[in-house]
Amino acid sequence: MTRSVAPRNTPSPEGRGPAAGAPSANGAVVIVGGGFGGLYTALSLAEQRDHPPLLLVEPQQRFLFLPLLYELLSGELRRWEIAPRYDALLAGRGIAWLRDSVVRIDARSQRLETAAGRELSYGQLVLATGARGHSFGIPGVVEHALGFRTLADVERLQQLVQQLRQKRRPLQRIAIVGAGPSGVELACKLADLLEGAAVVELIEQGPTLLPQARAFNREQAELALQRRDVRLRSHCRVLAVGSDHLRLETAQGAEQLAVSAVVWTAGLAFQPPAVEPAPQRDRIGRLQVRETLQLLGQDRIFAVGDLASLPDLAPTAQVAFQQASCLAQNLMRGHRGEALHPFAFNDLGEMLSLGRGEASLVAGGVTLAGPAAFQLRRLAYLTRLPGRSHQLRVAAGWLADWS
Ligand SMILES: Cc1cc2nc3c(=O)[nH]c(=O)nc-3n(C[C@H](O)[C@H](O)[C@H](O)COP(=O)(O)OP(=O)(O)OC[C@H]3O[C@@H](n4cnc5c(N)ncnc54)[C@H](O)[C@@H]3O)c2cc1C
Repeated sequence: MTRSVAPRNTPSPEGRGPAAGAPSANGAVVIVGGGFGGLYTALSLAEQRDHPPLLLVEPQQRFLFLPLLYELLSGELRRWEIAPRYDALLAGRGIAWLRDSVVRIDARSQRLETAAGRELSYGQLVLATGARGHSFGIPGVVEHALGFRTLADVERLQQLVQQLRQKRRPLQRIAIVGAGPSGVELACKLADLLEGAAVVELIEQGPTLLPQARAFNREQAELALQRRDVRLRSHCRVLAVGSDHLRLETAQGAEQLAVSAVVWTAGLAFQPPAVEPAPQRDRIGRLQVRETLQLLGQDRIFAVGDLASLPDLAPTAQVAFQQASCLAQNLMRGHRGEALHPFAFNDLGEMLSLGRGEASLVAGGVTLAGPAAFQLRRLAYLTRLPGRSHQLRVAAGWLADWS
């Protein structure tokens, strides 16, 4: 069910934003995007006493807990667990939800326009539209490669696995492009699901897999890939993707690789709604923010999550989650006309899903791999699922499975 509610207490269209530090005449907070940054900001703000009217604009019906997408693919978790509906998550919390996309923002008049043609005004605005896959303009990626970010992507991959397992022809091959965390974790799960029905290859243009990862996790990932006969082709650049082949550039020269399917996990692109006047972006297109998460030169517009560019911060759910609670406090401060506080990241560690029932983690002084790490990772994410009641429903489901 779609709830479409405009924020109460909206300002007049011509109302200019007051100077920083002055309370906002119109308190309404509009959050654009209901992923890790946006949804958790909304949930955290809604817990504050006397919070301003709050509207979340998000086009999808379900929130998606992306770090557990691999377990949805493998059937180790269920769809409702990692993709709860927004209407259920937001019910009774004082957060209005508009199922729509924001296309344009006029910072001068503090107004925005949605894809469905609605016009809304805001007192403070949060941009949390995240990232999407990046084709880098390589021919054939958009037409032929599968992605791994959405529920539809998971369904397509499940169908592919089923087809490959049924056909069992010789030399069936899935190529996964990008040996970052998504590529490596996906390769392990796919290899387990395929049970030898197809070869899985990881294509990486750099020298190694997981260049940013902790050494222990990288070693565990290498072992997990070896155990599953996943071949890593490093220093290997994709030149083009065809319906049944990849054209590659390797140290030995150009090569053509026959494939049953290609899954593209390399690179992120950022397409926030158009903002007037145009905000400053970094070299990969993220919006540049101050430590308070306000856009440079804009006191009433914030960015959070993958879209927000701060030095030395990777685009992860962990960063977005922590920024959300800082931002909720800053929105309250902004609402009251108080000075805002800077965001400080607290690195809680790193976890990797490495095949069915296996994981690796480095966190809180602990390094652990295998089935115990898998269970710990699941429990850690249980405490991060949105909303206490959803966490309890999921925990009850797991207890029922075990009993
Ligand atoms: C497969 C996968 C696995 C991952 N695993 C991990 C992990 O293990 N650990 C980790 O820390 N990170 C992980 N990440 C990264 C993590 O998921 C992201 O860093 C995080 O989701 C960023 O949150 P966000 O709110 O910025 O964006 P998102 O969570 O992507 O949310 C953006 C939201 O904005 C909405 N939106 C987009 N455009 C508009 C618009 N114009 N108007 C309104 N709404 C809009 C989208 O529908 C979406 O709901 C993973 C990512 C992927 C893809």
